Formats: sequence, C-alpha cells, structure tokens
Amino acid sequence: MKKIFLILLVVLLTASGAWAGSPIIRVGLLKNVTAAEISGAGVFEVSFSKSDQTSYFNHPIAIKIKDKALFVETKKISSDKVTVRTDNSVVLVNKRNYRGFIEIINNAPQSFTVVEIVPMDQYVYGIIKHEISPTWPPEAIKAQIIVARTYALKNMGKHAKDGFDMCTTTDCQVYGGMDSEDPVSNKLVDETPGEILTYKGELISTPYHGFCGGYTEEARYVWEGSIKVPYLVSKRCKFCKNAPHFNWQARYERSKIESILQANGYDIGKIINIKVNERSPSGRAMEMKISHKNGKLLLQANKFRLLMGSDIIRSALFKIRKDKDAYIFEGTGWGHGVGMCQEGAKGMAEKGYDYSKILKFYYPGTQITQWDY
Ligand SMILES: [Zn+2]
Ligand SMILES: [Zn+2]
Repeated sequence: MKKIFLILLVVLLTASGAWAGSPIIRVGLLKNVTAAEISGAGVFEVSFSKSDQTSYFNHPIAIKIKDKALFVETKKISSDKVTVRTDNSVVLVNKRNYRGFIEIINNAPQSFTVVEIVPMDQYVYGIIKHEISPTWPPEAIKAQIIVARTYALKNMGKHAKDGFDMCTTTDCQVYGGMDSEDPVSNKLVDETPGEILTYKGELISTPYHGFCGGYTEEARYVWEGSIKVPYLVSKRCKFCKNAPHFNWQARYERSKIESILQANGYDIGKIINIKVNERSPSGRAMEMKISHKNGKLLLQANKFRLLMGSDIIRSALFKIRKDKDAYIFEGTGWGHGVGMCQEGAKGMAEKGYDYSKILKFYYPGTQITQWDY
C-alpha cells in the first residue's frame, strides 16, 4: 500500500504540468517557531531525510522542537529535515492550505523553519489578491502578475541563509497560499504563463506604488545610492486622477516631530522651522531642512516620510505649512512613485490599454518575455 502510494505520488508530481520545467520557489511560511500543526486534505506522507524513514498520517500532527531535536508527534527525529507531501498536493500548515510540499528544517538552536516548495506560478496565485483587487480590470491585474513574477524571479535566494527564497511579508511579497487565491486572478496567471519583464535581456527591478499623483519618479531621486535606471524614469501619468483620496493632509505637532526624530537617533533641539530644501523634477521633496535650536538637520525626504509614518505622509509630493505649533503636510500620491502607478494601471485598463501597453508605459524600454519554463 505504501509503495503504491509513493509511486502514485511521484507520478503525480512529475506529470503535473505546473511542476514540469517551472522554476520552483521556496517560500518561508514560518521562521523560528517552536511548534506547528501539519495536516493534509487526505493521507499525507512524512519523511525524515537522514534515515529515509517514511510515515503516513490522515490526521493533524504536531511538530515540535525539544532539546534541539525535531519531534513528529512524540517521535524524536534524528534528522534535521522533515518533508511532508500529499497525493493531492494540499498541505495544511497551522490550518492554512498550501499547494506545494513542505520542508521542516531544524536550522536554529531552539526553533525550526517551515518552507513550502511550490512552482512559480502557483506561488503567484497566492500573492496577487494582496496586491490588487480581483474586481479591478483584468489588464491591470495581468500587469501586476507580470510585475510580481518578475520580482520573485529576480529576488530568488533573498533569504538563502534561512533556507528559503521569499518570506511571506511585505519584505518580499505578501503571500497567503491557497486561502489567498481568487479564481479570477488564478485564471489571469494561467493566461500569462511564465511572462516576465526584461530590459536588454535581463530581468528588471519592478517597483510599484499606490498612485503617483501626476508624475512617476526616477529611482535615483528616492533611494539613496540608487543610480540612473533607464526604465525607472519619471513619466507624466494622467491615468490615476480618479484615485480615491487623491489629495491628503497630515498634521503633526512640532513636539511630535521632535520626539520621532530624537527616538530615531537625531540629536535635535526645539524645531524652529521645517522646509523642503530640494525637489526632484517631478516635484517631490528630496531633502528636508529642519532648523532647530542647536543647528540644522538635512534629511532625505523619503527617509523623513518613512520616519513620520508612510501611511500618514503618503508620498513625498507635498507642501508644508506652519499652523501655530504644528506643521501641516498637504500632498497627493501614495507611495514612493517609482515604476508602475497601480491606480494609473487601473485607469489605463479602463481606457482600453492592454497589460503590455501598461507595463511599457510605466517601465519604458522593457520587453515582456516568456520565461523559459
Ligand atoms: Zn522577505
Ligand atoms: Zn499615476
């Protein structure tokens, strides 16, 4: 019985179209945990690499770490790696559903890491809904799919020292496995299999943002140390003007700004004035000049915005005015402004542009290429 199951499993995994030739991505589902519950939609196989032992279960099992060793239920495992597979490729980790197979790696003194190994496009299924609503026009969703896939391929191995490629947070791309999928975006992933963005044959960096507010921004004006990138240049964008909350306002008491800056290691006295010292050609603040009792602080505007709260001062496209003992920031745009404007992509799709036109507009000079799956 066990042998038949194993043969079936191997046949299923190797015959499955999604796995055939596709890049495989390792997703860090849980990092540095001491306990996890693993189960499958049906029977699942648990194997321990060193001893090559295999067990089968049809009920949830507890994985724990004790005295630096992994335990499957009450059984102590001599190996540092446990692999979990099912015949229908649905594994549950802490009650969330995943399509790939799972490795549990004992790679820290008193904790372990749970990694899902999954074909690239099935990984993309699990991220798109976090980036863009499935109710948006399909061509805008497709543009986001190409961006997400390109990002993942370009950043493979980002967390190699922890035993996986991508984490599941905003540090990489928010990923929720099958529970985050949507049939509409899954279908659009299937309609654009393996499509990625390249510039002169190389995978590109694909930054994007909520909306630009009229002009996208050059990468080099936002990120310290960034060089001129030919496809990350400022573009006049007329397509995001219907974005919700197009204009925003944020008010900060002087004392609040002082305490935030001091808490982040800036040695400043009482603030006398804050102004934008330098703006980029797109109109975004590049450098802030904060005059205070003990001198002047010059601070990169993007850094200032992140310190104050990027959801409050939503972009660097703002003006400042003083109001009694407070500063009022009035602006437009949401995010850094580099690369694709998501609300603009939506606006373009509504006007009938397809995803390749949208991508070529926001990343000029790039090509959509079929990744050689
Ligand atoms: Zn990450
Ligand atoms: Zn825009």
